[in-house]
Amino acid sequence: LRILGIETSCDETAAAVVSRFEDGSGLIEADVVLSQLDEHSAYGGVVPEIAARAHVDALDSLIEEALVRAGTTLSDIDAIAATAGPGLIGGLLVGLMTGKAIARATGKPLYAINHLEGHALTVRLTDNLTFPYLMLLVSGGHTQLVLVRGIGDYQRWGTTIDDALGEAFDKTAKLLGLPYPGGPEVERAAAKGDAQRFNFPRPLVGETRLDFSFSGLKTAVRQAAESIEPVSGQDISDICASFQRAISRTLDDRIGRGLLRFLTEFPQGDSMPALVVAGGVAANQELRRTLQSLCDRHGFRFVAPPLGLCTDNAVMIAWAGLERMALGMPADALDVQPRSRWPLDAGAQALLAYGK
Ligand code: ATP
Ligand code: MG
Ligand code: FE
Repeated sequence: LRILGIETSCDETAAAVVSRFEDGSGLIEADVVLSQLDEHSAYGGVVPEIAARAHVDALDSLIEEALVRAGTTLSDIDAIAATAGPGLIGGLLVGLMTGKAIARATGKPLYAINHLEGHALTVRLTDNLTFPYLMLLVSGGHTQLVLVRGIGDYQRWGTTIDDALGEAFDKTAKLLGLPYPGGPEVERAAAKGDAQRFNFPRPLVGETRLDFSFSGLKTAVRQAAESIEPVSGQDISDICASFQRAISRTLDDRIGRGLLRFLTEFPQGDSMPALVVAGGVAANQELRRTLQSLCDRHGFRFVAPPLGLCTDNAVMIAWAGLERMALGMPADALDVQPRSRWPLDAGAQALLAYGK
């Protein structure tokens, strides 16, 4: 089976061609991603209208390029998978309409994919992981701890009650005068900083529910920065290091509880339990160290796909389509609509109704 994947939910325009074999393994035949970063950086964040227009401009030639790189044509692919949500509605419309048009013109089935499902299933392509496993998704738009029980079968155990983690990095960078996107900038500055200097809050630490909160942390950073006049480069580094430390401690507590819950619900697993990380914040080395040591302590395998597959891409969308197709799950009708909000759990309910 070979699928063309299309992703346009945020600020990356992406197309990919991926194959799946009888034994369940996969092969990435083409992976093309065009980041719109330059177009948005002047505004300090993603501007939806600019994003949608940029997707329109780029998508056709990106799909062409993916097909050429894969050495294939539309007539040699078995299906099309396009992101249908969640995300910015303008971008979703562009990608899904393009997918529908190709499906219509070629008579091939269309799979309307949940972007979060793409993130959740990537490790089955890269690491052959079997169900169940836990996934921590940390990106600019999402912060969720999800139990992945099967294809279309997800349970959200925790989510942020305010800012996403990537958003917290971006906002912290902005108020310290660092450029967008802030994550890499904060990490770079933190490397030269003193993490002990500021004692920032560790929101929700100690609570039994598995949610996250980062807006209080951002406020504490602002207050720290305002209390220093003038703010030196060293001050910025110290703030960034202390900020990252607070996040590490918070994740250590929150995710640690998640791992314990997993062990309670799946006590007799045949294989080693696993925690998977996805999303752009997975690039952060301190976060990786924290999660690695947490997993070591609890007897979990820590799995981080290559960074290019952690951030937004079309390979994961193609792969989610392939997994559905391989299970014999029905394709979507061509009147399927994009959804700016689309929780993963909702898909699971729909699937139960379908009778899996
Ligand atoms: P979505 O949430 O819809 O998946 P997104 O574009 O916001 O989309 P990604 O592209 O996966 O998400 O990730 C971007 C985010 O990752 C930004 O918030 C960025 O600051 C953050 N990020 C990138 N590198 C690092 C890093 N080294 N440390 C911390 N955060 C980082
Ligand atoms: Mg992005
Ligand atoms: Fe994403």
